[in-house]
Amino acid sequence: MSTVRIRVDVRGIVQGVGFRPFVYNLAERMNISGNILNNKLGVTIEIEGSKERCDKFLMSLANQAPPLSRIADIKIEKIKTTGDKKFKILHSVDKGDDIALISPDNDVCDNCANELSGETDRRYRYPFINCTDCGPRYSIIKGTPYDRSKTSMNIFRMCAKCRNEYESPHNRRFHAQPNACPVCGPSVKLLDSKGNKVESGDPIADIMKHISDGKIAAIKGIGGYHLVCDATNEEAVTNMRERKLRKDKPFAVMSPDLESIRQYAEVSEIEEILLSSREKPVLLLKKNDKKVLAESVAPSLNEYGVFLPYTPIHHMLFSDDAPVALVMTSGNVTDEPIVFDDSMLLDRLGGIADYFLVHNRPIVWRCDDSVVRVFGERGLLLRRSRGWVPAPVFIERKSPPALACGGDLKSVFCLAKGNTLFPGPHIGDLEYAEAFDSFKRSIEHFKNIFDIEPEVVVVDKHPGYFSSSYGRSLGLPMTEVQHHHAHIASVMLENRLEKDVIGLALDGTGYGDDGTIWGGEVFVCNLREYDRKFHFPALTLPGGDKAVREPWRIAAALLYRYYDENLFDIHPGFVAEVGEENIRNVIMMLESDTNCPVATSAGRLFDAVSSIMLVNHFNNYDGQSPILLEACAEPSVKKEAPYSIESDGSIDFRGLITMLVTYAGCNSAGKEGAAIFHNTIATALAECCQGIKKESGISNVCLGGGTFQNIFLLNRLLPNLEKKGFTVFLPNQLPVNDGGLSVGQLAVGLSHIKS
Ligand code: ZN
Ligand code: ZN
Ligand code: FE
Repeated sequence: MSTVRIRVDVRGIVQGVGFRPFVYNLAERMNISGNILNNKLGVTIEIEGSKERCDKFLMSLANQAPPLSRIADIKIEKIKTTGDKKFKILHSVDKGDDIALISPDNDVCDNCANELSGETDRRYRYPFINCTDCGPRYSIIKGTPYDRSKTSMNIFRMCAKCRNEYESPHNRRFHAQPNACPVCGPSVKLLDSKGNKVESGDPIADIMKHISDGKIAAIKGIGGYHLVCDATNEEAVTNMRERKLRKDKPFAVMSPDLESIRQYAEVSEIEEILLSSREKPVLLLKKNDKKVLAESVAPSLNEYGVFLPYTPIHHMLFSDDAPVALVMTSGNVTDEPIVFDDSMLLDRLGGIADYFLVHNRPIVWRCDDSVVRVFGERGLLLRRSRGWVPAPVFIERKSPPALACGGDLKSVFCLAKGNTLFPGPHIGDLEYAEAFDSFKRSIEHFKNIFDIEPEVVVVDKHPGYFSSSYGRSLGLPMTEVQHHHAHIASVMLENRLEKDVIGLALDGTGYGDDGTIWGGEVFVCNLREYDRKFHFPALTLPGGDKAVREPWRIAAALLYRYYDENLFDIHPGFVAEVGEENIRNVIMMLESDTNCPVATSAGRLFDAVSSIMLVNHFNNYDGQSPILLEACAEPSVKKEAPYSIESDGSIDFRGLITMLVTYAGCNSAGKEGAAIFHNTIATALAECCQGIKKESGISNVCLGGGTFQNIFLLNRLLPNLEKKGFTVFLPNQLPVNDGGLSVGQLAVGLSHIKS
């Protein structure tokens, strides 16, 4: 029997996730000698033994890898035997310019959850229990290599028992950097609304009592604070809305298990899998008709954002007499970034929470909850943050060290080097000083932990974006990318498409090449360039930004365009709800062309239609009108309205909009009208695609932009396109909204670099 020695290079997330002890134990079990070594790329393993045993080892390596590891690539090479007798874990070397990957923050694993509830375990009800298979990572890391001294756990000295676990390769806590216990680790504390400590033998049980009594709590989580209250208590939820200055935007809720969720929402098989996944995203689920939760959790909508517990504290909150669901929303005021820094706590959340559950393990990096919505048999990421960040996205093309700055809303930057992209966390709206500050600091952090010093920068063409001006200020070679081109390029890159595609880019706002706002665009494009073939009608926005918050203004302008003064007779419902004087003021602005920018944006069309149909006249959160209009649409309605495509490529929806006037109201007619609207948009887009295909033969269609978060629209558009012979692509690992923009910017940027 011949002995062989094989060198195995494993690339991916294999550090800090129990990979080395897994390999060590596997080798011991299979009687294989050799060694394992961490390097910047991942790990290098050398194995020596009979060919059969080595083959078996390689098979198990891929199949049985620890749950948190993500193997991107395994390279195998036969080398000379050395006659090793044992398998050893060697000390890490720090060389070469490859990139070390860092695991995202993780939910509690089953083993730890069992210990947490095991009365005889030494970590029974210990809120910071973790092991190599679970626990915080990204949010506690200050630098690399990933080691306790470079995390916020550096202030805690392990006790003898913990140290023993940490040093034993057979133990589940071998090199688990956040390892801790009640003797040596962090602890929780209960504070009142003034920040004074409240004496408590069990702060978690006590804060839960206050929550059950209708109080509002702020609870420190993995990537920031959550504001928490009883989701079945209307008064508590309304109270939270008032204090948080959040009028209608839905709150996410957390329930202890799937059975509890089924009491108020429908859960399909795929949704069950996504809810239970290690990433524990907030998943949008259809409400059932039992009205178990308070109406103000998600007013006027037919979905809830729901997630399962992912930290030990969450698990401990849900004692037997806890409510079936807790509102668990980002700890912030209105749309500011989530609070994570204890020193900001009272300043920001002091007026909101009655009690605080705090602890002394610092959060180094803010990380919001991620959000997913199911379309067919797949999950669409609406926000990619906790559970995903800072995992990489691998691409085929090689990139020089590069930074893409993303957009200003739903800001996500992206760093790149070689075949690896690192999309950053969700930062939010850069208009807020704190968010912009967070944007700049997070970029520095990513540069540091992944050792990437950008040599090129890519930004949105927008002259006024904070993100773009930051990129321009760096003094690096720069590419400016049109917003909607970036949306489509993002989908192309992820789906490895290089040749010309049809790009449908539908969103709220993006800076167009002609200086106007775009957002309902049909392109023929590749990664390098694009051609604008068709676009949505140019809508007038009387009052500019104000019209985005008050979509009745766009509706009034549109009605005036079609009906002149007759609008007052033709749509009395609209006049009654909006007010004649307001409409007259808008007409004056239109006549004098005062502050009336135009936009070919799909989002604004949804806004206008939603107001014309008397569904919603004011947006107090991003996307409110489109979301309400989608919620209103009746799936069984297949009817459509007339539209026409003009010679300049503009899609004219006059026929549709004048028809919808007669469907106004959120009654059964309104439900039909909302469906007709979606159906007509889908058919018009499909006709545009068909026109392009006839001319050029292109049959790949990429969908990008926030409007495609609309499942009703996707359900109409995709079958329509597929029936006509098109292949339709959506993002897989990235959000379809502006959260995916930076990756698309990079794709376009790369295509402009000579290779
Ligand atoms: Zn664990
Ligand atoms: Zn300990
Ligand atoms: Fe966009």
